[in-house]
Amino acid sequence: MVKTKFGSHRKQSVIFFTVLGIILLALTIALNVGWIVFHWRQVALLVFGVIFFLLIMAGLTLNTIFLVREIRRNEQHDSFINAVTHELKTPIASIRLYLETLQTREVDEARRKEFYQIMLEDSDRLLHTVEQVLRAGRTGDRQRQIHPAVIDLGALARECVELARKRTHLDETALHYVERRNGRKALVKGDAEELRAAISNLIDNAIKYSNQAINVTVEVAEIDDRQLALRVTDQGIGIPRIHLKHVFKRFYRIPRRIHLKVKGSGLGLFIVRSVVNKHGGKVFAESAGEGLGSTFTIQLPRVSE
Ligand code: ADP
Repeated sequence: MVKTKFGSHRKQSVIFFTVLGIILLALTIALNVGWIVFHWRQVALLVFGVIFFLLIMAGLTLNTIFLVREIRRNEQHDSFINAVTHELKTPIASIRLYLETLQTREVDEARRKEFYQIMLEDSDRLLHTVEQVLRAGRTGDRQRQIHPAVIDLGALARECVELARKRTHLDETALHYVERRNGRKALVKGDAEELRAAISNLIDNAIKYSNQAINVTVEVAEIDDRQLALRVTDQGIGIPRIHLKHVFKRFYRIPRRIHLKVKGSGLGLFIVRSVVNKHGGKVFAESAGEGLGSTFTIQLPRVSE
């Protein structure tokens, strides 16, 4: 309720400032055109008039763009806080409920074990949210120090796939790993923990944004002698073209996907991009469109054995 009130208030502000900007622009054009018509003989004044006119127009346009951007950023900030609060509150409420039940009622052994399992999963979810927020804070700092070591990207990707399989109870047909290289090991230089977080975020998203039939491929391939690629491909809900670049921004979640009920904070891909940039690589998303799956590719510089 609060969220929608905020949302509509913000929308009204965007409309108000956009209309205000347009009216001001129209007034400026009318004033200046009138002025030029009446004083067309005074050439020097005309030149100054045109220059000032262009400057005012540019200023007004910049001002309007800035305002709309600021409002959008605040909007994303609000929805991030709502999402994170929800992600923190739900597992805590669930754990509390199970603890209360265990405290006040006689529960048989099997049910007790089931409750413990649910509480463990809830605390994992809680921990994941907190770690994600902390990591976004850390990786967002470009001056941070990393601890580089030579890492086998293939082994690291395989490890992430196995971890995700265990966590989500998926089998090899739903989540599989392929490696395409010509003999040489797929080595990169970097911080294993950061790279693991980046790869895991891509795999988690691929699973999260798949429909019922999950089919995710994680692939490590060599582009050439100097570059390696790690691709995560899914057959899920896809990404409309206009959002492909924006999804890496902090707090960015594709709008009008609320009906999907997929939980998230808009931090995952921001973390991926920050980690990849720090490692001298690049990351990009590809998708044929809504409902047609997506591929996320990380490119990293290769090092020799
Ligand atoms: P979130 O916590 O919302 O998942 P991310 O930064 O990981 O945040 O992703 C940003 C947005 O990009 C998501 O809200 C989602 O709409 C879109 N997205 C990310 N990965 C995929 C994917 N594999 N398929 C479709 N959409 C995706």
